[in-house]
Amino acid sequence: MGAKLVINGVHVVPMGMANAFLIEGHDGLTLIDAGFPRKEAAVFQSIRGLGRSPEQLKHLIFTHGHPDHIGSAAAIVRETGAKTYMHPLDIPLAESGGPFRPMTPAPGLLAQVLCRLFFDPDERMEPVTINQPLSDGEILPIAGGIEVIHTPGHCAGHVALLWRPRRMLFAGDVCTNLMGLGDPVGFESLKEGRASQRKLANLSFDAAGFGHGKPIARDASAQFRYKWGQKLAA
Ligand SMILES: [Zn+2]
Ligand SMILES: [Zn+2]
Repeated sequence: MGAKLVINGVHVVPMGMANAFLIEGHDGLTLIDAGFPRKEAAVFQSIRGLGRSPEQLKHLIFTHGHPDHIGSAAAIVRETGAKTYMHPLDIPLAESGGPFRPMTPAPGLLAQVLCRLFFDPDERMEPVTINQPLSDGEILPIAGGIEVIHTPGHCAGHVALLWRPRRMLFAGDVCTNLMGLGDPVGFESLKEGRASQRKLANLSFDAAGFGHGKPIARDASAQFRYKWGQKLAA
């Protein structure tokens, strides 16, 4: 299965039960997240599908350092030489390749099962070097401006990324869009995770992409506000 266009300039790349996103900027290509291990071919195929070559991938930005987001990173960097970016709190996870910090399953029976099924803190990934730490509020001068929003909870070093020119939010694992907007499988801190969901619900954007589940092409902020926004008093 190949990459699919979400909005003009953004393609979702299936990385085995996890998504990566390819952004086409005037200054080259940027990848957000690197999926499960041994999925690098999907990225290279997507790049070639755009009539580009892998060495045109200039930036690899991670929403966080979990195994399903860094799995193919080392292989992608070897092939492309892309510069890597991550929040400092997760850099040790990427640079060691594990073990990972434990999570508590999200509320609900299904999450109990899924969390055990899909997340093993003792898993080991191929380590990847991070070239640039990300900080909350900074705007990366990439593809016309990518804003970094620190959104801890699921993972302490989690960031959401807002591509300003086309108003697309990359929510990572702050939430999923599997059967509508919902929780990720687990949280390091549920309280911080809820605060991060509310933080995103207060932003204004048109499209949204998720680590897991279907991207939303338009009116995405309205769905976030409905799910996690301030409820107006009746
Ligand atoms: Zn995660
Ligand atoms: Zn994930």
